[in-house]
Amino acid sequence: MFRKPAGIGTCPRKKKQRYSMDISRLIRKEIRAQKPYAVEELSCPIKLDANENSYVLPADIRDDLLGRLKNIELNRYPEAGSPTLRARMAAHFDVPAEEIIVGNGSDELIQILCATLAGPSATVLAPFPTFVMYRITALNCGCRVVEVPLDDRFDLDLAAMLAVIRKDQPVLTFLSYPNNPTGNCFDAGKIEEIISASPGVVVVDEAYFPFSRQTFIPMLKKHDNLVILRTLSKLGFAAIRVGFLLGSRTLVGELNKVRLPYNINSLSQIMATCYLDHEQAFEDQSDRVRAGREYLFSRLALMKGIRPLKSAANFLFFCCDFDSYRIYDYLLDQGILIKNFPILGDLRNCMRVTVGNPGENEEFLRALQEFIAKQGV
Ligand code: PMP
Repeated sequence: MFRKPAGIGTCPRKKKQRYSMDISRLIRKEIRAQKPYAVEELSCPIKLDANENSYVLPADIRDDLLGRLKNIELNRYPEAGSPTLRARMAAHFDVPAEEIIVGNGSDELIQILCATLAGPSATVLAPFPTFVMYRITALNCGCRVVEVPLDDRFDLDLAAMLAVIRKDQPVLTFLSYPNNPTGNCFDAGKIEEIISASPGVVVVDEAYFPFSRQTFIPMLKKHDNLVILRTLSKLGFAAIRVGFLLGSRTLVGELNKVRLPYNINSLSQIMATCYLDHEQAFEDQSDRVRAGREYLFSRLALMKGIRPLKSAANFLFFCCDFDSYRIYDYLLDQGILIKNFPILGDLRNCMRVTVGNPGENEEFLRALQEFIAKQGV
């Protein structure tokens, strides 16, 4: 198995502590109640678990990037608030720069939203299942999280969402569009009804926009309580940690009071600008990912005991008639890592696979087909 070697960074012998103090009593109870977010640190030749882009940066862009990085004054702090990058983004999205914040990944923007809007006793609303960081971050900020299960077509249960909005008046509602982990785009009409009915801010998280090409950005002019999140992570720049938030000038002004001044390092600011200069190359890659997604879907749909869901993202969600732990281990033994959701609310044995490059997709399909053949079905 391709597991991380044990023992790295561990101390051979623990020294006896001189003073003993119960540190845990100092920790806020909502933090103590949380489990640490576990990121799979398995070194695998075929890594299809984290919705990254498997295609590498084209050589000419890599060279351009390296040329730019050479000139960075590493002895100086970065531009506070990323004004140069924001100006470029403003032109790109055709919105004023005052309506944009750059975050250290969109994860940081989720955290800033929660810290600014959702204090103790406030309600944060999200469907279930969805991106887990909405729940984790809201709980860390001490708020109450209400999760409304998706309907049997993995769409929003509008009546149930509206009932929570009326009763609990959530300050924040998170909608992943397309949804992670299910991969579908919720009905746009339902989302608009939720935005209109909400007394709080509604976040439409478009992390997977490069693969769905569907956006609520035009709605920003109509709804002051709408916020859009985007990220560069899924289209090939996961390492640089850059995400964007678009929202009303008033809200962005308040969020900026919570954002740390130098939240984006100089290298990431420059690299994100470089992305804008080469957008077409990234779009070409996402075209290939979209084609790979359709191919993977058509192949999975033919496999016995595998029920994939149509996806608008760069991954596919599927439920299995087999124990998903066994599939997970079988693939891992062959150096292929995907995401396992053994229990997801009422669902059992679901998995999520990121669309890889053609070679990776074939390897994954071959190994999964082999697993199924061995079950004798
Ligand atoms: N939103 C969604 C829906 C995601 O799936 C992810 C990443 N898994 C994020 C946000 C966070 O992305 P980033 O790398 O920009 O923090």
